[in-house]
Amino acid sequence: MNVAHATRTLRKPDESIPFISTCPACTQVRPQCGYDRGSLHRLLNGGHVVEAYCETCDQYWPISSNERVRLAVAVIAPRAKADS
Ligand SMILES: [Zn+2]
Repeated sequence: MNVAHATRTLRKPDESIPFISTCPACTQVRPQCGYDRGSLHRLLNGGHVVEAYCETCDQYWPISSNERVRLAVAVIAPRAKADS
């Protein structure tokens, strides 16, 4: 079996950008980490909805404009290096 052209799945996983959003159903702050930098960049730049998820409620919701702004800053910021 010729596997020379096997699909290369060894892509480096994109860096995911963790952020938090408040669930509208249970009003708890939920950490989100389901988006990588590239996806977020596309969504934010294109004016698309960025959805957050709450495991407890099993519910998705679009993040607020305030959360979008914070997220945009995180996305465009150079990789933060914690000092010591
Ligand atoms: Zn919830």
